Amino acid sequence: MENFRDVVVMGSGCSGHTAALYTARANLKPLVIEGHEPGGQLSMTTLVENFPGFPEGIQGPELIENMRKQATRFGAEYMLGHVTSVDLTKRPFMVHVSKHVIHTQTLIIASGASARWLGLPSEQALIGHGVSSCATCDGFFFSGKEIVVIGGGDSAMEEALFLTRFATKVTLIHRRDHFRASKIMLDRAHEHKQIEFLTDTVVEEVHDVKKKEVTGLKLRNLKTNKVWDLPTSAMFLGIGHIPNAKMFEGHLDMDQDGYLKTHDYVFTKVPGVYACGDVQDRRYRQAITASGSGCMAALEVERFLEQKGL
Ligand SMILES: Cc1cc2nc3c(=O)[nH]c(=O)nc-3n(C[C@H](O)[C@H](O)[C@H](O)COP(=O)(O)OP(=O)(O)OC[C@H]3O[C@@H](n4cnc5c(N)ncnc54)[C@H](O)[C@@H]3O)c2cc1C
Repeated sequence: MENFRDVVVMGSGCSGHTAALYTARANLKPLVIEGHEPGGQLSMTTLVENFPGFPEGIQGPELIENMRKQATRFGAEYMLGHVTSVDLTKRPFMVHVSKHVIHTQTLIIASGASARWLGLPSEQALIGHGVSSCATCDGFFFSGKEIVVIGGGDSAMEEALFLTRFATKVTLIHRRDHFRASKIMLDRAHEHKQIEFLTDTVVEEVHDVKKKEVTGLKLRNLKTNKVWDLPTSAMFLGIGHIPNAKMFEGHLDMDQDGYLKTHDYVFTKVPGVYACGDVQDRRYRQAITASGSGCMAALEVERFLEQKGL
């Protein structure tokens, strides 16, 4: 594989594939480093109903595979592996993928953000089957049902309030009896008649892995040690996301939670280095917005190379 590139894309989620498609169609022969999770977050889900162009919806893995095929058709190349470090101090930049070193004139960081999960095997087995980290994406599937939200910060309150549009009842489960959420969000959730709070409580198991659907949760009260089963149709995690950007600490600007800071949509502070998708977007976190910013990053790469005469 060629070690000198015009553009390297770090990540193969929807932002990375879209950046690859656009740069490939501009004849820049992008190299996409796939990362530990080829296809990104969409490869973990089932039905996606809000990506335009698919009136009946489309399975997440199929959507992402289509994006990859489309980019490959125009000459994008894919490399299995994980970017382990980068040197952005001079161009061409150096991108290390384990022992390989790739030199590139531009870099598109599309490494996404990973949802924080509880880490229970039953939870992991039911992601996309009633366990979700995205209320906007999956809330609609639970219209008329009772569901659970986990967390105690603003994002959990926001998810719980949003989900009352669909669910008949939302039980908000938090392991403590005090909350990180702002007073205004907490008050809103407390005052909502469809939201019930369960504090000092943790989830020990998600039922029912055999049926491949969420039917209930095994809960434990940390103060009384009482254990019981709560029937529910879904469990939404609202305990935050971890942006995959740690290696850029000290090199690129980040906010307090580690999201890459961009200006004018996709520019980082290093000319020739762009960031797109969930790694720089803590607000929308959708497939379509990730793809949109992947497109923007690709167009900026084209402009940059043209301006530099490269
Ligand atoms: C269960 C679930 C269901 C969802 N459902 C929907 C939905 O219905 N509709 C919707 O619009 N959105 C949905 N989303 C959100 C959507 O999937 C994300 O917003 C979108 O995938 C973000 O795309 P991305 O390309 O920015 O990042 P990601 O999809 O997170 O992809 C990041 C990529 O970067 C790679 N990577 C990370 N670190 C490195 C590294 N060091 N080197 C190389 N590569 C690296 C990973 O391997 C991965 O390929 C859902 C998310 C989840 C988790």
